[in-house]
Amino acid sequence: MALMITDECINCDVCEPECPNDAISLGELHYDIDPHKCTECVGHFDEPQCVQICPVACIPVDPQHTESRETLWQKFHRLQRVAG
Ligand code: SF4
Ligand code: SF4
Repeated sequence: MALMITDECINCDVCEPECPNDAISLGELHYDIDPHKCTECVGHFDEPQCVQICPVACIPVDPQHTESRETLWQKFHRLQRVAG
């Protein structure tokens, strides 16, 4: 699954540099996660890094983008190919 950032985000800016997939950027109102780039950190870390660091716990699973772990691995490999 991809994760999403809710309206409770305080734009503290600490999650953006932690994302190994460059999936986080500042949107119109608050930081946003690109669901096409978020692998829930699969392929990089055991836990989602943004969730670990967010001080207000405003990063739940995006119900619009539920994916299996297998699909997340496929996304990880696809992103690696694009990056490479
Ligand atoms: S879970 Fe990982 S890949 Fe997804 S936005 Fe957070 S830091 Fe980036
Ligand atoms: S760490 Fe949490 S509060 Fe801070 S910018 Fe990211 S989502 Fe928003």
